Amino acid sequence: MAKQVGHYVTRPGRNLGDPDITIPVAEDLASMPGIPMRERDVSFFSREQPLENMALEESASADWSRQQRNNHAPEVLEFFEEHQARMEPIVEWIQHSGDLEPTGTPNGEDVTEAIRQKARALGYGEVGFTRSNPHYVYQSRKRTMKGGLPHAICLALEQDYNKTQSIPSMDAEDTHFGTYFQQGQLIVHLTDFIRSLGYRAQVSGPTWHYGPMIPMFVEAGLGQLGANGQLLSPHFGSRARLQIVYTDANVTLDKPIDYGIHKFCQEYQVCVNRCPGRALMQEKVWYRGVEKNKLAFKRCRPVMARYLGCGLCMKVCPIQRYGMQPVMEHYVETGEILGKGTDNLEGYTLLEKGYYGPGELPVFDAKFFDMPQGRSEDWLLIDFRNKLLELESDPNTNRDEMWADFRDKVEASLKERSTSVDMGMDRGI
Ligand code: SF4
Repeated sequence: MAKQVGHYVTRPGRNLGDPDITIPVAEDLASMPGIPMRERDVSFFSREQPLENMALEESASADWSRQQRNNHAPEVLEFFEEHQARMEPIVEWIQHSGDLEPTGTPNGEDVTEAIRQKARALGYGEVGFTRSNPHYVYQSRKRTMKGGLPHAICLALEQDYNKTQSIPSMDAEDTHFGTYFQQGQLIVHLTDFIRSLGYRAQVSGPTWHYGPMIPMFVEAGLGQLGANGQLLSPHFGSRARLQIVYTDANVTLDKPIDYGIHKFCQEYQVCVNRCPGRALMQEKVWYRGVEKNKLAFKRCRPVMARYLGCGLCMKVCPIQRYGMQPVMEHYVETGEILGKGTDNLEGYTLLEKGYYGPGELPVFDAKFFDMPQGRSEDWLLIDFRNKLLELESDPNTNRDEMWADFRDKVEASLKERSTSVDMGMDRGI
């Protein structure tokens, strides 16, 4: 063995009834359970600079992204529209899920395992329990969050393996899309079950969320945060879609786990090196009280908008591709990262640009990354003011027409907020 094992992590098998798996964590990868965090800083930022949904905070680039979508083939546009229509009733149901009353009466027993087994039987690959954390609720959604639901049930649903390896492609979008739809159906069964036990259930996701979910998944021991900004869980890494059910059910909370990912990602960084937009940062920074690799949004969205939601940081992750147990076993035996430097893991094809093997990256000029930033209403106002300044000296300028154009654009932007931008993104309202 090239490495000493520091500790072992035992987790349930992939499917209900499968034997447990044991993951060896090498001594040099061991750090701490969950993620390095300064609670006081998390509280400070939550109070002074509350989190807000990106669909609102970055609505200017969301509008721009929708326009870029018009450059895709007609069948791609049709697919996006069909997705939007299919998700509409699901989002409507999610938004009102917290209003549904329990149908049974609690008998005082701990229902953790009953809920876990039910969720696993429905097909959720990872299920964990933690406290509902108010620091991770978007400012604009706080008023719709029900009180008296102290627990969060974290649920990860795996998406298709083969289709995901073809990222970025319509096949990958198909499984991405299909997994959201599946989540929308499964969650109705799970919350019916929770309500039959005598408890309430308010649902976050898919497509409409109360806030970021990964911190609670990490707290529930379901994985750790990867350098790609995604949850890396034992069986499918980041190849999963996440959901949370807030509840008052009588459950026992899980604990965070050190899978060795915090150091693994810092050392090996396949996703950082393969990102076509160079959007992932090599060095971890302290951000809002958490130590993490910060994503540069303005270098990511221009790629996502043009290349079918991109997602290459998910595709090239060894934990996604091979699973955490084989990757960590290989590391202990050889000291190397399974698949690193191979076409199998690192290769990808970008439409109209071609194939990029290990060590090769596409080049984009600076204009490629030009996109409006911030809230659309602010951006449109700045744009309008600049036009006024430009035309100040021109007596023939029709200012009424300019006003009307400005008003139409603001109205169109507000209307578009009920549609998601890329299919994975949240909606603005
Ligand atoms: S989605 Fe694409 S551009 Fe964005 S961080 Fe991932 S690999 Fe980079």
